[in-house]
Amino acid sequence: MSSCIFCRIIEGSIPAKIVYQDEHTLAFDDINPQAPVHTLVIPKRHVASVQDLGESDQALLGRLLLTCTKIAKDKGLSESGFRVVANTGLDGGQTVLHLHFHVMGGRHMSWPPG
Ligand code: AMP
Ligand code: ZN
Repeated sequence: MSSCIFCRIIEGSIPAKIVYQDEHTLAFDDINPQAPVHTLVIPKRHVASVQDLGESDQALLGRLLLTCTKIAKDKGLSESGFRVVANTGLDGGQTVLHLHFHVMGGRHMSWPPG
């Protein structure tokens, strides 16, 4: 069994509220939502962060972002807007070392983030 919590969600060994999946990506609602809509979009292959993507991952990166916009559309955020965030590394505030995009919306987001 994987030691990575998001790989365990992919394996199905820990539960998550999965809202979408395709061959390469999985989307599930964040367990500790910080906005009315807060969904995580991840690759099904373990990749630690955006820094660990290479030239050969262009299609995967495109698929991940297209999945983010699909989730936003499905959750009714297309008109109001939303935020897509990939926290990266220590200063970026990344706590789970499996690449994930946060798709957040349903309230106004302030800038800059804390
Ligand atoms: P980050 O701090 O950017 O690495 O984001 C990690 C996110 O994963 C946080 O928003 C957590 O609430 C979320 N999270 C951690 N464990 C789970 C889980 N089992 N199911 C859903 N979301 C999770
Ligand atoms: Zn993983």
